[in-house]
Amino acid sequence: MKVHLIRASGYPLEDFNNVINLLRKHRGSIEFIPSEPIFLPDPDNIKTFEDSSEFEKKEMPRFESHHLNVSEIDDSLSYSFPLEEKVYTWKQLFGICTDFRKENKIPKDDHVMLLTDQSNEHNWFGSYDESLKNYFIQTNHWGYFFGNDLDSRFPIAYEVTAWILRSMMFPGQIETLNALHKAPRGCMMDFCIDKSQIILKMRTGDLCHDCMNILTNRDVNRSQARQLFTIMDGIRENLLFRQRSTLLMENSRMEIRGLSKRIFLTDLGDLEINLNPKERALYLLYLNHPEGIMRSHLVDHKVEIRSYYAMFSQQPSNDLIDEAISRLTDVTDNNMNEVMARIRTKFRQSVGEQQFEDYSIMATPEGTHKIRLNRELIKFIQ
Ligand SMILES: [Zn+2]
Repeated sequence: MKVHLIRASGYPLEDFNNVINLLRKHRGSIEFIPSEPIFLPDPDNIKTFEDSSEFEKKEMPRFESHHLNVSEIDDSLSYSFPLEEKVYTWKQLFGICTDFRKENKIPKDDHVMLLTDQSNEHNWFGSYDESLKNYFIQTNHWGYFFGNDLDSRFPIAYEVTAWILRSMMFPGQIETLNALHKAPRGCMMDFCIDKSQIILKMRTGDLCHDCMNILTNRDVNRSQARQLFTIMDGIRENLLFRQRSTLLMENSRMEIRGLSKRIFLTDLGDLEINLNPKERALYLLYLNHPEGIMRSHLVDHKVEIRSYYAMFSQQPSNDLIDEAISRLTDVTDNNMNEVMARIRTKFRQSVGEQQFEDYSIMATPEGTHKIRLNRELIKFIQ
């Protein structure tokens, strides 16, 4: 099974790649294929969320010729927080998938999923159309619900996985919507009218007994189902690791991969820390010197840092490489401080306020700079 993931141009490439890494961590017969970004026209429908509770709630779509059993869903909300947002209709979102299929001659059986940073008319995190092969997943607003406690890669990868699993469980869109649980059970099929309840599903990463029966009674491809459950288990473990690591002050393992020495935090869902070549060169130098380096001695390590930088910088000439390294190691230039500050910011965004100092190049009371991270957690992979 092939799943094509389309990135709307407003969704940052870095975040998109991190979601793909999470999905691809457990290989199997489902293949996740990232596409080129697509530029979408702004949506022309405006939705006004009158208050925060409306914004936090999903709305059940109405289908003309079918009846949905969602009598418990409350439409009468009080309004006071006017928030106007441009939204796509579901039809438009699925239409983007259909157009993508035509333009790229995607086989009928492949799945196409649009990751969009724009909201949708019914305020859902994701859905599919009647073919069960065209999907959208919303990538914005996760921070509103989960703040810094949750890295948005996790719920986005969860949504991708859950919708594919649903496409295997149900014959159609209406059947899917009718099977949603109104009261949360910690099951993937919880409706989660309150969008923040999605975290409960991710923590269990499971199906309830009833839903497992539905899946068992359908002729699903077992190996694909297993792969999806493994991905969900991975998301769950990462979430738990994140929460526990804050409590226990436990750091993630780090892998430095390949010739370009890309940096991944393996216990955090293989999160890549996207350092640019100069930042990466400086980082590798300090990794290699756990004892720390005095700023004024940095110049003594010029050969080492140059060798890293030359390995993966895009600089077209040796002169430009020399110039960059001279600036970086020059005590009178502020360049080193700037580079270290950028590295700190990137770790802070990735591992949070509590732990970023363990991974960053930090000043010590002895007047050196060093990376405190336990070197036993670090592995170089060629
Ligand atoms: Zn269930």
